[in-house]
Amino acid sequence: MKDVMMMKTMTCEQLGGPCNSPHQGTTADEVIKAQDRHLKEMVGNGDKEHEAALKDMKGRWKNPIKGMGWYRQAKRDFAALPEG
Ligand SMILES: [Zn+2]
Repeated sequence: MKDVMMMKTMTCEQLGGPCNSPHQGTTADEVIKAQDRHLKEMVGNGDKEHEAALKDMKGRWKNPIKGMGWYRQAKRDFAALPEG
């Protein structure tokens, strides 16, 4: 089976996290949401390294003006990625 949608991969690290767990998505929003879930899951499992990244992520939603720069950068990084 072949995906018709263009899947791209960004790692936790590329999205400001501490590990290189990959997230796949067809849009930047998808990988950002996957990262959000990943951070919550890791912290939920007691991972201390992801706590700071989760706090940053929450701060971005609370402070959209400040978080916008990060969001735009993540979208630019995603757009610049090769497919696959
Ligand atoms: Zn991670």
